[in-house]
Amino acid sequence: MRDCSGCLIIPGLVQAHIHLCQTLFRGVADDLPLEDWLVRRIWPLEAVHTAETVYWSALLGAAELLLGGTTAILDMGTVRHTGAAFEALERIGLRATAGKCLMDAHPEGAPLELAESTDAALAEAELLAQRWHGAADGRLRVCFAPRFVPSCSGPLLRAASELAERFDAQLHTHAAETIVERETVLRTTGLEEIAYLDSVGLSGPRAAVAHCVWVDAHEIARLAQQATNVVHCPSSNLKLASGVAKVPEMLAAGCRVAIGADAAPCNNRLDAFAEMRLAALIQKPRHGADVLRAGQVLELATLGGARALGLEDEIGSIAVGKRADLVVLDLREPHLHPPPRDPVSAVVYAARPSDVRDVFVDGRPVVLGHELLTISVDAIVREADRCAAELRHAAKID
Ligand SMILES: [Zn+2]
Repeated sequence: MRDCSGCLIIPGLVQAHIHLCQTLFRGVADDLPLEDWLVRRIWPLEAVHTAETVYWSALLGAAELLLGGTTAILDMGTVRHTGAAFEALERIGLRATAGKCLMDAHPEGAPLELAESTDAALAEAELLAQRWHGAADGRLRVCFAPRFVPSCSGPLLRAASELAERFDAQLHTHAAETIVERETVLRTTGLEEIAYLDSVGLSGPRAAVAHCVWVDAHEIARLAQQATNVVHCPSSNLKLASGVAKVPEMLAAGCRVAIGADAAPCNNRLDAFAEMRLAALIQKPRHGADVLRAGQVLELATLGGARALGLEDEIGSIAVGKRADLVVLDLREPHLHPPPRDPVSAVVYAARPSDVRDVFVDGRPVVLGHELLTISVDAIVREADRCAAELRHAAKID
């Protein structure tokens, strides 16, 4: 029994769009729009990843997430070494659904150093599913994760959706993040992006689609009708100047919406509290102060995330029969006083990751008294810093 007097117990926060493989790239890709960010920084750095650097990148990100009250994520890896990320997740104790990033070479062009043949990409994704789907007593699951339409052929996207069906797994991709992407997809496929994704099987409750900034009202209606999960990433969308997703319109249309910090080089935090607060604040100038109230936002970060992971019967709320993914918030600090009249308001508008005292995943303590129990944070930081320097050197980024 642990004394939780003076504390608030909340369901573990769920972030449904994360790239743990990019945590080592924090601070090396600031102030660039998405397309330059990918071509000049992220793809060259991902291309030189080794199993060792992916492993420590995943541990660094997972440590930040757990210490900040995130207990479950939907992750997109890089093209290679996703097994090393699973080993890190197995060790550290975070609940994760993760997938190798799928990119195949085709005319519109993924970068040559990252793209694989369609068959090789699918074969490795299937092997990963056989090894990791349901591992660690079900805490780890596999998703199939085509990066985005411009880096994937139609046959790759269709096969990914078939694999997800076969393994009873989620699909995880990006869509409609920028106006450039929207125009590229329209030009190359002849369809609007949400319609194109539907035509290749990336839709419905199994699909989690990050961003969806550049969607029209009829596409929002289509996403709602499909019950596709939209993952809203407010910090990333602002920092890359992509835009502001129409979340109030999506919720009014009946869309499923989750939130995510995206990744260290485009945020630069993996902080669920920052994403909740920002998700609420950025809509208010356009729609009025009463839009996206604290209770709605907390739901996006808990049950919304659970739905995007296909785990709404297991996590996302505190209920008899659900897994005990719990976060204990210490309310002692000045920024949480006077004592909150509305605890939900305190969580969404005032709390910070440093208020997280204890974290339980599946009933197992992973953080107690602000300390990560599963692995030394000092060791993670030391090894991650060494690996990040190696990657920058290999990718010739100073
Ligand atoms: Zn992303």
